[in-house]
Amino acid sequence: MPVHFRRPTDRHLFVERTQVDGDCPACRRHELHRYPVLCEDGWFDVVKCAHCLTSISRQPGPKLGPVELLSDFL
Ligand SMILES: [Zn+2]
Repeated sequence: MPVHFRRPTDRHLFVERTQVDGDCPACRRHELHRYPVLCEDGWFDVVKCAHCLTSISRQPGPKLGPVELLSDFL
C-alpha cells in the first residue's frame, strides 16, 4: 500500500534564524540575523541585516546545512 504525504500546511519553508547581537553598519538597526544559505559553493552561515539585507559575515557552514551529521561532531 503506497504511503501518501499530505501537502504541507505551511505556505513557506523557513530555516531557523537566530538573532545576533549588534547593529547594522549600513542602517544602524539592531536587526542582525544568522541563518544558513545554500550557494553554488555549498552551505554558508551568513549574518545579514533583516532590514536592509547588508551582509555582515559569511562563513562556510556544515556540508549539509541545517542537516547535522554525526561526523561533523567528531
Ligand atoms: Zn541594515
